[in-house]
This record gives sequence, C-alpha cells and structure tokens, in this order.
Amino acid sequence: MEPLKTYLAGKGLTEYIRNVSVDEADVLRRLREETAAHPKALMQIPPEQGQFFRVLVGMLQARKTLEIGVFTGYSSLVTALALPPEGRIVACDISDQFTSVARRYWREAGVDQKIDLRIGPAAETLMSLLAEGRGESFDMAFIDADKTGYDTYYELSLQLVRPGGVIVLDNMLREGNITDPTTTDENTLAIRALNQKLGRDSRVISALLSIADGVTLAWKKVG
Ligand code: SAH
Ligand code: CA
Repeated sequence: MEPLKTYLAGKGLTEYIRNVSVDEADVLRRLREETAAHPKALMQIPPEQGQFFRVLVGMLQARKTLEIGVFTGYSSLVTALALPPEGRIVACDISDQFTSVARRYWREAGVDQKIDLRIGPAAETLMSLLAEGRGESFDMAFIDADKTGYDTYYELSLQLVRPGGVIVLDNMLREGNITDPTTTDENTLAIRALNQKLGRDSRVISALLSIADGVTLAWKKVG
C-alpha cells in the first residue's frame, strides 16, 4: 500500500488556518483568552473548530442542539451565536464552577435565553429529555464530556437527534495517542472502541476528520 499522506495540521498550518478562515466574534475571543489561564484550557475546542460548527449549524438549518460538556462555554457560545433567534440549546455539565464562566459569557453575548443549562450527569439529563417526549427533535448533538461516557451519550443522542441530524464527537484522535499501542488508559480505550463501532454502525454515515483533536461527524440516516 502507498504510504498514507498525513494532513494533520502542524503548528504553522494551524496558525495559517486561523488567520485565513476563522472569523471569531470578539466575545468568543475574550472567552478563549480568559480560559487560556485555566489549567484545563486544552479541553476547549480551538477556534477553527468553532468556525466549522458555524458552517454545520448553518448547513443543518439547526434550531435545536444538544451540548454534552460545556466547560467555560466556548462551543456552546459559538453554536448559540450561529443559531437563529428562536434557536435553543440544551447544555449538560456537572460543574457549577466551570459553567459559571459560561453563563457570564452567554449573558454578555445576549444569548443566555437560548441556552437551557442542566447541571447533573449528562446521561440522566438525556434520559429525562427522552422522557419529556423530545426524541428525534434535535438537529445536532455535540459530545465532549467524560470519554468513558461517550458510548452512552452517543446512543442517547441517536434517539434524540432527528433523521438527517448530526452527532459530533470530540477528541476522537486523543492528541495522536489513539494509534499508540502503549497508550491504554481507560479514556483512550473507550474512544478506540467507539471509533471501531462508529465505522460499522449502519444507523449513521460517519466520518472521522483530522481537524483539531479529531472530530467525528455521525449523520443519522434518513428513512
Ligand atoms: N465543549 C467544551 C469543553 C468541555 S470539557 C468547550 O469546547 O469549551 C468537558 C466537560 O464535561 C467539563 O466541563 C466537565 O465538567 C463535563 N463533564 C464531565 N463529566 C460529565 C458528566 N458525567 N456529565 C456531564 N458533564 C460532564
Ligand atoms: Ca474537547
């Protein structure tokens, strides 16, 4: 077999992509700068992934989205800004502390009324949405919380997203460790297993993209 070309953006290319293609709102830039000081700042999606989400939300003509893992709010804020005025996000996180930063920025950006923040284990929130009769009512779900929970969040999201909707999963390449056989922590094992499963899941058509830390789009088939 021919050697595979690698397209993973090195530092220079990432900077280039940011410069030419990312049109980041001022409030997002300030949130990113504030979060940069946080010891867990790497959990935040990078701005070029936020730009990609703007395209996704527009393409899907999304009105309702799910956010599983909010942290300080970057991905939910970029989504909320991209949604039309009547658009709504159900956002799940277990941390009051992290999401207090998110709430401050949502308010500042004037999108707080678009976001229904539910504090508690995401699996419970997703199950309660199903119990509320909100199955197949979301256009998009973004899964970015605890990695060992991804499979559960994926299965529940698949019930909550409409046919033709998309489930987006973050950190699917684990900073490149996904292919390192000596990396066997439970998070990497969970993502490896899910990558395998998604590749053969006939309920969706999925693509694992080597942008940011690896982003999978799982498009729920219609009919
Ligand atoms: N999407 C965010 C980053 C999320 S980081 C951004 O781009 O900025 C992961 C988040 O998942 C953390 O805020 C953490 O509190 C949350 N989390 C961890 N376990 C969780 C669980 N069981 N249910 C809901 N949220 C959880
Ligand atoms: Ca992430």
